[in-house]
Amino acid sequence: MEKKIRKRSNKRTRALKEALRLRVFVRDNWTCYICGLRVRDLPNHPRMATVDHIIPRIKGGSNEMDNLKTCCAKCNNDKGCN
Ligand SMILES: [Zn+2]
Repeated sequence: MEKKIRKRSNKRTRALKEALRLRVFVRDNWTCYICGLRVRDLPNHPRMATVDHIIPRIKGGSNEMDNLKTCCAKCNNDKGCN
């Protein structure tokens, strides 16, 4: 098990990102900031719920909680980003 983790070094990064996503969802009460949908009620909500960057990373936005908002997959798709 430990060998596998070492092989894929970005596995740890991914796990951290997942934890961060969860913290954003909890902070935002699992509500999409665009349409107000409760992402928690969606089927497969961990996949349907997305995190949106207030300042896009391409414009220097960070991956910190301050720059992240809960967004449902539909609104995120409609915006055409991520
Ligand atoms: Zn939405």
